[in-house]
Amino acid sequence: MRLQVIGGHAMAALLGLVISTSYGLAQKAAGDGAVYEKNIPIKVTEVAPGLYFHYHHQESNNAWLVTEEGVLVIDTRQHPQRAEELLAAIRKTTDKPIRYVINTHAHGDHYFGNKIFKREGATFIAHRDTAGMMREHFDSEMKRRMGYFKQRKYDPAEVELVPPDITFDTNMTLHLGGRTVELLYVGPGQNPGDTLVHFPKERVIFTGGPFSKNSWANPSFTPSMENWVELLKKIAAMDVDTYLGGHGDIGRKEDVLHEAQMLADFNTGMREAVARGMSQREIVEKVKFEKYKDVRNYYRMHLFIASYYHFLTTGKPKTAYSKCCVPVPGMK
Ligand SMILES: [Zn+2]
Repeated sequence: MRLQVIGGHAMAALLGLVISTSYGLAQKAAGDGAVYEKNIPIKVTEVAPGLYFHYHHQESNNAWLVTEEGVLVIDTRQHPQRAEELLAAIRKTTDKPIRYVINTHAHGDHYFGNKIFKREGATFIAHRDTAGMMREHFDSEMKRRMGYFKQRKYDPAEVELVPPDITFDTNMTLHLGGRTVELLYVGPGQNPGDTLVHFPKERVIFTGGPFSKNSWANPSFTPSMENWVELLKKIAAMDVDTYLGGHGDIGRKEDVLHEAQMLADFNTGMREAVARGMSQREIVEKVKFEKYKDVRNYYRMHLFIASYYHFLTTGKPKTAYSKCCVPVPGMK
């Protein structure tokens, strides 16, 4: 009899496991595409002469510009070992020295590889708010990436905070080997300090945090969803053909406008729900934003709702930056 009870418990535990597994699969089938996304290989594309895009769907993206006077790199990946891989990919295209690194925003998956490029002699550039966020949130960024380090068997102790050597407030133009690179800041999008890296002649822009093709972005950091939407409309109106996101594949204008519409709908839907007095749980269960269920990361919608609910009910982002933000004319 006792044995049967134990057997019953064991069976229940087993059933529980099966149920949670099939629930996980159902989530994937509902839109985040995680099953096929696992199989998307890292891809390097020369989007304009000497300008390369490094697309890693499961983690984060980079770009680099090769000139006669050296190389400019955008973002450095999620761990020094990943940065070594990026450097190896760059070395397949050039043996010129690494002159500059731009960090587009202060999320660990875009700057935790900095020390490898410091070793290579690069000068680091970032927006003033990105520099501040790096210092203020380094520990919490490390904490939320411990699972990743463990899974990849990466030593967290290898990551070092390498802050920028140069900061800027609204814009900055670099000239390197006859090429022009503009760093633009039009206020926060996904993050305080979000830097847009514009290659005017090449009609290309690297968008870091605010734009990622067909992806839901984590809204825990934005102090203004309105400014984020405006930022996307502004870059969609620029004389640019190619939009390189911090995540996702190469985008076009329609992809940028699609994200602007999605975030505007999310903002409106959330504000209406909160104004009607709905709780966070009710919003998760009833509002759902299913129109966008086929967009990458939709399976994390409950977390996005929780973050933005926090913002709307407290007036502060879930992950707030205390010195936010360098003011920009016309910022919403
Ligand atoms: Zn990222």
